Amino acid sequence: MPSIFTKIIDREIPADILHEDDLCLAFRDIAPKAPTHFLVIPKKEIVSLADLTDGDESIVGRCILVASQVAAKEGLDGGYRLVANCGDDGGQEVPHLHFHVMGGRKLTWPPG
Ligand code: C5P
Repeated sequence: MPSIFTKIIDREIPADILHEDDLCLAFRDIAPKAPTHFLVIPKKEIVSLADLTDGDESIVGRCILVASQVAAKEGLDGGYRLVANCGDDGGQEVPHLHFHVMGGRKLTWPPG
């Protein structure tokens, strides 16, 4: 069953898209937790980090590279956080692998 993020990839629901290429999509989080908060997702339907398999290296690598490049375009010169929540204990709500990029304020550590 396609996740809500697959519907964003397929343009079935709207999103503020910051980047798209053959492997991944970056868009602003609909409920931002920081002044700048966007998500980078693979186009491949991978549920979570726990579901990565051999051969997914280029997808994950591209997502992280896109996170870095979009963060630079967004002017996050003071730094930012890259987070992937995984599973129930990790606080993952959408079952499609995604990397949060949050910045624009001083973030605290550790998360709750
Ligand atoms: O890591 P987790 O699964 O909890 O994060 C899902 C994120 O997806 C949330 O930050 C939520 O605001 C975001 N989201 C979104 N657009 C949607 C649905 C969820 O940006 N249409």
